[in-house]
Amino acid sequence: MNLEQFRHHAHKAVDMMADFLGDIEQYPVKSQAKPREIYDQLPASPPAQPEDMDAIMADFTQHILPGMTHWQSPNFFAYFPGNSSYPSVIAEMLTATLAAQCMIWDTSPAAAELEELCMNWLKEMCALPAEWEGVIQDTASSATLCAILSAREQASEFAVNKAGFEGYTDFRVYCSTETHSSIDKAVKIAGIGAANLVKVAVDDEMGMDPAALEAAIQADLKAGKQPLCVIATLGTTSTTAFDPLEPIGQICQKYGLWLHVDAAFAGTAMILPEQRWMGKGLELADSYVFNPHKWMFTNFDCTAYFVKDKEALIRTFSILPEYLKTSSRGQVNDYRDWGIALGRRFRALKLWFVIRSFGVEGIQVRLRDHLSYAQWLVEQVEAHPHAMLMAPTKLNLVCFRFCPKHLSPEQQDALNEKLLHRLNDSGKLYLTHTKVKGRYTLRMVIGQTYVEKRHVEAAWEEIKKGV
Ligand SMILES: *Cc1c(COP(=O)(O)O)cnc(C)c1O
Repeated sequence: MNLEQFRHHAHKAVDMMADFLGDIEQYPVKSQAKPREIYDQLPASPPAQPEDMDAIMADFTQHILPGMTHWQSPNFFAYFPGNSSYPSVIAEMLTATLAAQCMIWDTSPAAAELEELCMNWLKEMCALPAEWEGVIQDTASSATLCAILSAREQASEFAVNKAGFEGYTDFRVYCSTETHSSIDKAVKIAGIGAANLVKVAVDDEMGMDPAALEAAIQADLKAGKQPLCVIATLGTTSTTAFDPLEPIGQICQKYGLWLHVDAAFAGTAMILPEQRWMGKGLELADSYVFNPHKWMFTNFDCTAYFVKDKEALIRTFSILPEYLKTSSRGQVNDYRDWGIALGRRFRALKLWFVIRSFGVEGIQVRLRDHLSYAQWLVEQVEAHPHAMLMAPTKLNLVCFRFCPKHLSPEQQDALNEKLLHRLNDSGKLYLTHTKVKGRYTLRMVIGQTYVEKRHVEAAWEEIKKGV
């Protein structure tokens, strides 16, 4: 392909993208593909000769699109949203065009400085503690791993990085029974061991019980273990439960533990002053993560990771081979020292485009819409003779199930499971499920960029019809 052909095909691709987003409601939300169906349609070996772009695009439309689940459909109510938006897509196109490696300031000063600025913007938008500093990571999973590694290095005075685990084989990490699986993964990768992750009991609303946390720490101390870190969650994945940060943070201070806060999904709600109740005690945290790539209209990947003490982070990760020594070191941020990967995409650009194009108030309007649609759904569930809320709806995830009285709890489980599969197979909407106190529960998240009230109303009609 030459430059003129690039111009031609890129224009056509943008038209196709706009048509696709305009027609998105026509596509089944969840792909209807069967296992191996896509693979078997495509040639097993790569082409030896150049292929025409029109042919490639035709195959994209014919074979790839039907195999996609449409996260940008307003009828996507599954998992947590993986949102995009028009300004974000434009920024991603520019990022792909520049295709810069933004590992250090020298390799693209604008990328490093825009990242610093956008992290400060996010800090202000969410009213996070002013002394925190932020960096963009690929995922919340990576950010949480960075937090546990930093905690490990700080507690061992950087000895594990240097000499391995000798003398430091008794670390203990604490989280609630409702915590995301990325914490289990991080504890394994950090060399602490899954058996040393203590799952603390939760209260009736599925937030961590601080008394149970303190009891677990005291029992470990008595047994000669070394409590290291607590991971508190704001908005669990199963039901958006909230761990009480203030008492947990006080316990961390009392015993000298690192407090990491995982607000991957719910953190976006901190942009709304009326939702900042969840951040009470946040100043006690050592590190904090939330994902603009979930609910803040910014393409994956874009995770905002904030730390109280950037020196602990940088000392954990910094490397300085001769070929990376630069004269600007010390005056500007070299983000390769703020996380795991050396090579980094220019991820700040899409955040900058999104924040400017929506404006903070524009984002707030959208978030409040989502929260009000969720409240409307809560009212419908409460008014339905056979439906029941399974967890408090603190934000925009509604957990419910149908439980006709003539059915046993097991039969009710089966009814809800069948309903979920039937709805998802219809292509009209996409929901996922969880278990709440052992019972099969439907999860409906209302946070997609393009969702309107009418989509939620239509989804509820479909759901009711299916029972
Ligand atoms: C989604 C989610 C994660 C994982 O986020 P990634 O960016 O995909 O790693 C972690 N914790 C919570 C609470 C989440 O909702």
